[in-house]
Amino acid sequence: MGIRAIRGFKDILPPETRSWQELEELARACFETFGFSEIRTPILEKTEVFNRGIGEHTDIVEKEMYTFTDRNGDSLTLRPEATAGIIRAYIENKLYNRSSVQKLYTIGPMFRHERPQKGRLRQFHQINAELLGSDDPLSDAEVIWVAWEILQEIGLKGGLRLEVNSLGCPKCRPGHRKDLSVFLENNAQDLCEDCKRRMKTNPLRVFDCKKEECRRALLLAPVIKHYWCPECSEHLGRVLDYLEFLEIPFVINPHLVRGLDYYQRTTFEIKATGLGAQDTVAAGGRYDGLVELLGGPKIPGVGMAIGVERALLLMESEVEEEATDCYFAVLDRDAMEYVLKWMKELRQNGLICETSYGKKSLKAQLRAADRVRARFSVIVGESELDEEEAILRDMETHEQWQVPFDEVAQELLKKTLEEEEVEAKKAVQEEERE
Ligand code: ATP
Ligand code: MG
Repeated sequence: MGIRAIRGFKDILPPETRSWQELEELARACFETFGFSEIRTPILEKTEVFNRGIGEHTDIVEKEMYTFTDRNGDSLTLRPEATAGIIRAYIENKLYNRSSVQKLYTIGPMFRHERPQKGRLRQFHQINAELLGSDDPLSDAEVIWVAWEILQEIGLKGGLRLEVNSLGCPKCRPGHRKDLSVFLENNAQDLCEDCKRRMKTNPLRVFDCKKEECRRALLLAPVIKHYWCPECSEHLGRVLDYLEFLEIPFVINPHLVRGLDYYQRTTFEIKATGLGAQDTVAAGGRYDGLVELLGGPKIPGVGMAIGVERALLLMESEVEEEATDCYFAVLDRDAMEYVLKWMKELRQNGLICETSYGKKSLKAQLRAADRVRARFSVIVGESELDEEEAILRDMETHEQWQVPFDEVAQELLKKTLEEEEVEAKKAVQEEERE
């Protein structure tokens, strides 16, 4: 067998890439309306960015990172998520000096060494947003809102459920952590090996375990909401008020925690019905200590990430490759001098043009024109060349007519424009009928 891609790394081929482009364009347009600007940070960072930024005792840092030593002996890591790198860039470039609130988004690949399955890859992609510089509950609501909006826009196959929780703050978390640790010690016999370890290093994380035995064991565990300080309660209450004003339905899930250490207060997940086990499409929350943790000033932040592969599984329609406007069937290579000029003019005007490579029969070329769903084809052979008149063929009606060489481009532009007008009219009529 030849060389194959790495397990969990996937080629994304046409026409599937169309759906990717559509989702990305839609997300970009959405972010613009919310006042987010794009940031692009490197895919490779010093390992400490993630060790510090995500936390030593998380699944990601403990067992999922692609870490290696480079030729200089530096430990580098392929980014497993976007936030830590964005915060590194935010601090390094002192973006907080430009304006007190920064709203940033990025779209790109992430890398985690996990067991590949449906909706879980080793190279996967995220649409990511960070709002830095505000702890106003409105900023939490806006980040949830933009995630919700993007997912609504893609035309969903199933429904979405927004789950929200608050993880409290450094004031109210210690009390919960203490009681939770005691509960876990007393129920250790019912927990999986991973959770027995988490119990000592990062007890909150046991709620993130997907094993049925652990979920059952945790049903009676103390939940953070009974420990919220008045400020945390009020903060969450206002986030929820805003969601209500926006008519974004939510449920409170007191067991919802995030796999990353840096979250505090608001945390949320958007789950899809009908995605199976990997049902979380988007997730995020507030991380007020993170900028400081990575060596910056004390600046609050809130962010979210949408899993692109999972979002695409929910997309209602598959997007097709675009149909070709004109196919040039060339039977005499001497005609290329003219054909290339026509194609140049038409392509500059935005028309999709194709021709054949190498010498092929007319039949073969018209078949090729059908394959690329050409609307018109232009046939030029020896006799057309002599008379300087090309044959234009309507590929739908099979009607053919002759056009002088110097009018070919104009004729095609006119014809495709007429087509578009007819299509547009049809669309308007259909809409009116609805
Ligand atoms: P999970 O619990 O599914 O492992 P997570 O908590 O590790 O998710 P986050 O770090 O919050 O996930 O990432 C945000 C989103 O990115 C997830 O909700 C999911 O849609 C997507 N995602 C995370 N890991 C993967 C992966 N290995 N393959 C595909 N998508 C992923
Ligand atoms: Mg994970």
